[in-house]
Amino acid sequence: MKRIRKIGIVLAIAGSLLAEAVIPTAAIESDVAETESRTEDDNRLEDESQTEDENDTEAGEETELPEEPALEAPQLKAESSTRGGIKLSWKTAENVREYILYRSTEKTDGFKSIYRTKTKTSYLDTKCTPGKKYYYRLTVRSEEKEQTADGKVIAGRFLKQAELTNISNVSGSRKLVLSWKPVKGAEKYQVFRQNKSTGEYKKIATVDGAKTSYTDSKRTGGKVYTYKVCAVDANGGKGKQSAKMSQMAIDKNKKMIALTYDDGPSIYTPTVLDALEQNEAHATFFVVGNRVNQYQTYIKREVALGCEIGNHTYGHNSLQRLSSAQIQDVLGKTTRAVKKQTGVDIQVMRPPGGGYNSSVCKAADMPVILWSVDTMDWKTRSTSATIRCVKQQAFDGAIVLMHDIHKPTVQAADTVIKQLKKDGYQLVTVSEMAAYRGGMKDGKVYNKFRK
Ligand code: ZN
Repeated sequence: MKRIRKIGIVLAIAGSLLAEAVIPTAAIESDVAETESRTEDDNRLEDESQTEDENDTEAGEETELPEEPALEAPQLKAESSTRGGIKLSWKTAENVREYILYRSTEKTDGFKSIYRTKTKTSYLDTKCTPGKKYYYRLTVRSEEKEQTADGKVIAGRFLKQAELTNISNVSGSRKLVLSWKPVKGAEKYQVFRQNKSTGEYKKIATVDGAKTSYTDSKRTGGKVYTYKVCAVDANGGKGKQSAKMSQMAIDKNKKMIALTYDDGPSIYTPTVLDALEQNEAHATFFVVGNRVNQYQTYIKREVALGCEIGNHTYGHNSLQRLSSAQIQDVLGKTTRAVKKQTGVDIQVMRPPGGGYNSSVCKAADMPVILWSVDTMDWKTRSTSATIRCVKQQAFDGAIVLMHDIHKPTVQAADTVIKQLKKDGYQLVTVSEMAAYRGGMKDGKVYNKFRK
């Protein structure tokens, strides 16, 4: 009987070759001949071993007729795998000759075999749509007789990659509130925080699957924290970790200062960005709209680092001489360029040269941000003078004016930031500082945000 079935399979293989191959007849014939001869060889080898097996069995049957143990399919486990799919696993069971894995999209019907094995105890089902539920059943075939046993039907889901949507700092009390999109089939979520010195992510919390937020308390004000999140299914299987997201923890009781860089971006901007990133600091960049596309990489990095983009008009225009429509045009073009490159809506503006009047404020329709510490960097073009000026004039709530189009200025950034942090400042954006110091209104002028 075994032999007949084998030949049947051989014929089926040959048949499928004939049916599917689109090659000249001669080639088909030779291929088939080859397949047949090879398979016959294999059969001969297997037949020999089978004959021995059969002899053994016969000898056994003659002497004592042992009872074949009841065949039972092992418990099947289905879990989402970060390798991309649903991982099915089971334990080896006694007396089993073959494990056959079936899958369906319905619980009771439509099962099709997707995997057969004699020795393996796991299988990764990669042909599944993320988020969709699948049903699996493991059937085993016995060693001795043609006996089969079906296991219980279980459900599995390949969890979608989690996605952090926001990290907010609203309380200003060293608490960061993380939010993410719900993942279908998530029993739990795991939250990971990066260790800045090793770069590794450590699990800090496991959250119930019904929730989509987590509050990380007691963070240090002025430090930037980076998180990832992932969904976990009922069997402990995981979805892929989300992309990382960072936020600065802000302590409303600690000193704050807002560094601002005007007229960029320029080829020198990355030096400031490196210093900000390495020192866990934020700054505000008042950008000139006609430079946005050319330096889009830098603008994107500014946003990625948690910095703020401000509007400094499209062509560094002096606004006092312009009509309302013209003011709105040079600001609007910049806002749209930044939105297009970064997806960010600009919230603040700074008039070039600090020149404004009531009609500028009205047309701007945004908070107008000036400064309280003028480094005069454009005039001194001196790294040491810039460092000295910030050191001497810094105060809690100050807004510092610099320009990231001058090499000596960007070369001062690292020292300026380190020095301020050493003096106990949190280096925040203009909007972050305003949020804890009375807020801002459209059309109003601000040059500092004192407690
Ligand atoms: Zn300017």
